[in-house]
Amino acid sequence: MTELLRGLGVSAGTATGPAYRLPGPPRLPPPRPVTDPDRERDRALAALAAVGEDLGRRAAAAADATSGEILRAQAALAGDRALSVGVARAVHAGHEAPHAVAAVLAEYRSNLLAAGGRLAARAADLDDLRDRVVAHCLGLPMPALPRPGCPFVLVAVELAPVDAALLDPAQVLAVVTSAGSFVSHTSILARVRGLPAVVACGGALEIPDGTVVTVDGTTGRVNLGAAGEEAEVPAPRAAPAGDHLGRTSDGHRVALLANIGRAAELGGAAVEGIGLFRTELLFQHHVDPPTMAEQVGAYAEVFAAMPDRQVIVRTLDAGSDKPLPFLREHDEPNPALGIRGLRVARRRGDILRTQIAAIAEAARRHTARVAVMAPMVTTVAEAAEFTALCRDAGLSTVGVMIEVPAAAVRAAEILQAVDFLSVGTNDLSQYTFAADRRSGELADLLDPWQPALLSLIALCAAAGAAVGRPVGVCGEAAADPAFAVVLTGLGVTSLSMSPGAIPAVRAALAAHTVDECRAAAQRALAAGDPAAARAAVTRV
Ligand code: PEP
Ligand code: MG
Repeated sequence: MTELLRGLGVSAGTATGPAYRLPGPPRLPPPRPVTDPDRERDRALAALAAVGEDLGRRAAAAADATSGEILRAQAALAGDRALSVGVARAVHAGHEAPHAVAAVLAEYRSNLLAAGGRLAARAADLDDLRDRVVAHCLGLPMPALPRPGCPFVLVAVELAPVDAALLDPAQVLAVVTSAGSFVSHTSILARVRGLPAVVACGGALEIPDGTVVTVDGTTGRVNLGAAGEEAEVPAPRAAPAGDHLGRTSDGHRVALLANIGRAAELGGAAVEGIGLFRTELLFQHHVDPPTMAEQVGAYAEVFAAMPDRQVIVRTLDAGSDKPLPFLREHDEPNPALGIRGLRVARRRGDILRTQIAAIAEAARRHTARVAVMAPMVTTVAEAAEFTALCRDAGLSTVGVMIEVPAAAVRAAEILQAVDFLSVGTNDLSQYTFAADRRSGELADLLDPWQPALLSLIALCAAAGAAVGRPVGVCGEAAADPAFAVVLTGLGVTSLSMSPGAIPAVRAALAAHTVDECRAAAQRALAAGDPAAARAAVTRV
C-alpha cells in the first residue's frame, strides 16, 4: 500500500530508491571512576585533536567550496581552546574522557538552543563533533553514512555538516530528514549537489530500511512503496524545439524564471531569467556584514550569467528561518513574527542602503535587466519607502514580495507604490494559516492548494491586471505543474522556481490554452479544500 508523508521540499527534483537510515551515535559506556586524571585528560585532548585534524583534511579535499567551508568551521570547533579547557576541567572533576567531552558539548548545546535562531540550528554540528570524539576515545569507527551496496535514499533526523558535506551523489539519490529547515546544512548542501531533499518530514524515521520511496524535493512529498499521485497533469503537447519561453498552447506568455541563491545553482539550465535571487544565502556564514565590494562581486557574478535577461534581486531576507550571524543582535521570543525581512532596516538601515548601492553598482556593469524587491513587506508605507530608496540609488524597477496577508489584501494600494509584486507562497501560507512553514505536522495547512491561499493570490493577480503591472509567484508552489496552470489562470504573469522544476512547468503550460487555465483556476477557487481543488484541476 502506498503511504504518503509530507515535509518541506528544500531541494527540487524527484528520486526513487530504497531508504536507509543513518546509523545512530556511538553509545557511552557506563561511567567508571577516573584513577589517573592527567592520563585521562590527555586521552580526551588527543581525541579532540585527532578529530580536528581529520576534519581539516576532509575540508582540504572537499568537492566544493561550500562543503569545504562547513568542514573547516567544524574543524575549528574541535580546536576551540575554551572547549579543551572545559574538557580538561570535566576530567579533573571525575569524568572519563568520552563522558567529559559529552558533558561539555551538552552544555554548549543547551546554550545554543537557548540562544535560538541560527545558533540553535547549529546544535547538530555539536552533536556530530561529540559523536566523532566519543567514537575516537572508544576506538570505534567514525560515524559514517550507510553502505547498502546500491544507490539509496538517505533518511536521518538531520544530517551533521560532515555527513552532508561528504554525501556522494553517485550513492545518495535523495535525502529525507525528520528535522531541519530551509537553511539547515542538509538543505544547503542538497541544493548545491542537486540532490532532491525533503526536511521536517514527520514519520520519516519510521520508514523501515530497504523500503522503496519516491522523494519529491519540490512538493515535499515522500511516497512509500510506489510513485505518487502527482503525475496527473495531462501529457503535454510539445513546445517548439529550442524555445525555452513559457507560454500556453495558444501563445499566452508566462515568464518561467529561476529561484537561486548563487550563480552555480543555475547549473547550466536554460532559463528566461531569475525571478528570485535569495541574496541572504550568499552571506549565511558571515559574522560581519558583507562589504560593498564583496556584494558587488557576488551580484555581478549572477548578472554576468544573465546577459539581457531579467534578474530580480531580493534584498536580504534575514531573520526567523534564515538567520544571519551579522544580524543576530535581536533576542526575540517569536522570530517569525519579529524583526525579519525588510523590518531589519528599522534597526540597520545602513545594511539595506549598502546592499541597494551594491546591487545598483553591479547592475551598471552588466546588461542583465536588474529589478530589486523587498521581502516581508506589510504596509503601503514600507513599500513606498523601499521604492524611494532604490530609485535614489539608480534602480528603476522596484517591487515587493507579498508574503504577509495584510499586504495581499492591500495589493492594489501597494501597486501604486511599486512596479511589480512577487507572491512568496511559502511565507504567505505560513502567515495566512498561522502554521510554521518548517512544521511537517502542519503540512496539510501549508498545502498551496488551500482555497484561502488561492483567494489571496487571486486578489493580487487581479490588482496587477487592473493597472497592467506584473504579478509573479516565486514560492516553491509555482514548481507544481498543475498549480502553475491554476496560477496562470488566475492572471499571474511569471512563475519562479528551482531551475530543475522549469521543464515540467513549461510542458504543463504548453498543454493548455489560457482559457483552459482560467477554467482550471475557477474550479480550484470553487473547491472546498486542497484535495478537492487539486482533483478539480488534475482529474478532468
Ligand atoms: C516565500 O516565502 O515564498 C519565498 C519565496 O521566500 P523564502 O522561501 O525565501 O522565504
Ligand atoms: Mg519568504
